Amino acid sequence: MTTHSIPRSVDTAIVGAGQAGLAMSWFLRGAGREHVLLDRREQLGGSWPDRWDDFCLVSPNWTVSLPGYPYDGRDPDGFMARDEIAARIAGYAAAIDAPVVLGTAVDRLSVRAGGDFLLGTSGGSVTAREVVVATGGFQIPKIPAMAAALPHGDQRKLEVGILIALEPDVFMFDEPTAGMSVDEVPVILGLIRALKARRDKTILLVEHKMDVVRELSDRIVVLHNGALVADGEPAVVIASPIVQEAYLGVEVKK
Ligand SMILES: Cc1cc2nc3c(=O)[nH]c(=O)nc-3n(C[C@H](O)[C@H](O)[C@H](O)COP(=O)(O)OP(=O)(O)OC[C@H]3O[C@@H](n4cnc5c(N)ncnc54)[C@H](O)[C@@H]3O)c2cc1C
Repeated sequence: MTTHSIPRSVDTAIVGAGQAGLAMSWFLRGAGREHVLLDRREQLGGSWPDRWDDFCLVSPNWTVSLPGYPYDGRDPDGFMARDEIAARIAGYAAAIDAPVVLGTAVDRLSVRAGGDFLLGTSGGSVTAREVVVATGGFQIPKIPAMAAALPHGDQRKLEVGILIALEPDVFMFDEPTAGMSVDEVPVILGLIRALKARRDKTILLVEHKMDVVRELSDRIVVLHNGALVADGEPAVVIASPIVQEAYLGVEVKK
């Protein structure tokens, strides 16, 4: 694929260079129509790279056939992993020599007098006779309404699941097991334990249950009546008189 610069005027502007935008490009090229694809990402692959690390297709590989680019791999009934799908979309762009301009977000679209379109982009304005919006359909996370009807424990599990799916670098949990039955607590603790085992995330946990704190923490910071009273290794902090008294109910002789 050749690198293209952003035109000031074009016959057709395609917003989004995922598989839909690229397929449109293939048809426009076939029809001899001048066009450009504008994508806000720095890399090709559509939205596939946004999926979680061990994502794989739920539809078989043979379905990932694109106009002019049929699936020709060895495993038509298999299920490609995330990075393979993204690479396949990038490969498609190269195979059809799609005129893609990456790193260009379109943030305004208006109609000018005379019927042309004006696109406001991060790379300046572009006028186009036609615009194809191929920006994908999964841009706004949506929690199905039925989630509100789940039992309290399941809602907490769902919250943790949503957090994990967003893949943040820092997880902040505020009493994640609050209101849960004894049966449900281990599920949440197991999820947090698995996150911790990865060792590539920072977890900040606000918790009053000392058994949970003891099990999960590498460092404990204790606030009592709004003041910092201890900060350090779990064994040392838990053994400190103020924690014994304030959180474990042990009466400390003064
Ligand atoms: C969890 C999940 C699992 C899925 N599993 C499957 C599956 O197994 N099989 C299957 O066939 N499909 C699956 N899909 C659906 C598949 O991901 C989409 O159908 C496909 O990605 C749609 O391609 P697209 O080109 O329309 O959009 P996208 O792949 O989303 O591409 C849109 C492009 O537009 C760009 N863009 C967006 N807004 C702007 C803007 N304002 N300016 C510039 N560029 C912009 C984006 O950067 C992106 O590159 C799944 C989807 C999800 C969410």
